[in-house]
Amino acid sequence: MEPTFSPPLHRQRHQFVIDFVKRNKPKKVVDLGCSECSLLKQLKFHREIELLVGVDIDGAKVKKKMHGLAPMSTDYLQPRDDQLLIEMYQGSVTQRDARLRGFDLATSIELIEHLTLADVERFSEVVFGYMTPAAVIVSTPNSEFNPLFPRLAGFRHSDHKFEWTRAEFKSWALKVCEDHGYEVEFTGVGRAPPGQQERVGFCSQIGVFHRLGGGEVCNLLFCDDADDVFSYTLLYSKNYPSLHDNNVLRRVLVMEVLYWAEQLRRRWVEEETGQRDDADTPRPAEGDGEEYHRASEQHLEMEEQTAAACGAAMKNLVEHQDVEAGELFWTDGQEQQESRRCVSVPLSVLWSRFPKVAALSGSLSNLRRLLMDHPDVKLSQDGSAVLLNYQEQEEEEDRGDLEDSGYAEASQCSHSVEPEEDWDADV
Ligand code: SAH
Repeated sequence: MEPTFSPPLHRQRHQFVIDFVKRNKPKKVVDLGCSECSLLKQLKFHREIELLVGVDIDGAKVKKKMHGLAPMSTDYLQPRDDQLLIEMYQGSVTQRDARLRGFDLATSIELIEHLTLADVERFSEVVFGYMTPAAVIVSTPNSEFNPLFPRLAGFRHSDHKFEWTRAEFKSWALKVCEDHGYEVEFTGVGRAPPGQQERVGFCSQIGVFHRLGGGEVCNLLFCDDADDVFSYTLLYSKNYPSLHDNNVLRRVLVMEVLYWAEQLRRRWVEEETGQRDDADTPRPAEGDGEEYHRASEQHLEMEEQTAAACGAAMKNLVEHQDVEAGELFWTDGQEQQESRRCVSVPLSVLWSRFPKVAALSGSLSNLRRLLMDHPDVKLSQDGSAVLLNYQEQEEEEDRGDLEDSGYAEASQCSHSVEPEEDWDADV
């Protein structure tokens, strides 16, 4: 009976690479002979990777699927901390291209057996001698496993030029190491049936190479002309949204600030009007227990954060009758009509109480700089606080004409707030 693999063998090969990436966290990864980009599509989720490149001689294959590498809506909603550039090239692994030098990891999954032996020699020179990645993963069929497939006549694929025994693979790999300064470990995926593993080995044999000596390598043979070699054709290039991009950073920060400011406003209004009622908390439907608990844990955590900030707000309101910089909240006076009141949430509170706001902005003055002039954020005149309408309902009514509503009133009131140097100085 033919051995079957679960998960399928091609998935196990890709999983082997993914496990390596998880352990070693390479920043620059190139997949040689990437075909229809399936390994790259999984690798792009690994947030340590900053440059992800695919190369295949068959440009049509790459073009067919490369658009699936584009960012998804979640990549915009939760942008990465570090940048990610994905580039796809049409080119041959037997030719040098300067853009492929200096990678942390190069993968060659079921590629070399598609090359003639003369081209395997070129591949060795180009990959290990010129590109000099810190690590290389090479997988190729193990011909000793083939007799376990009784219906297989010849090679596993019509385009294969050879299939090596473990000894043949080892002999090639050790020569590569000797010529180019690497060490190699042998392993594989696709286990043989019980009792036969030792005799036949893995279905796909794998060599994991590590460059000796570490650090930057400049091969003397290629160093001089490295800049001139651009033999590959760029087919696709995509920069992912990341917090390195100032526009993206600003958008995420504004969402975070408005979210927490609104939580604080709501909490404070509820406390002030005595409307707070935990009976409103949604209850789980039957069968949703686990998800509900997870959600309610998150909810509790947020509640604790808002409660801490709000508790201080209440205390300040009680302790300080005058409007001053140290207060967490103030309204523009009880004598004003309810509909014209607004709540001011000092940036110093948002910055010191909500770690993500602090992490995104870096400093209080930077927070103010990033929020200033943003169309979705109304700052007090001295720029020290975010202004929100006292009641949610008013936002609907006032949206069209903010300037003559509670915001304008609040701006007037904010004259009584300490000058900006004072609140900024004690950061
Ligand atoms: N690595 C992929 C596909 C392996 S099939 C996977 O794991 O599924 C081998 C691939 O190597 C094919 O897409 C083929 O077009 C490509 N290939 C063959 N010769 C090549 C060469 N000289 N340079 C780059 N790619 C090559």
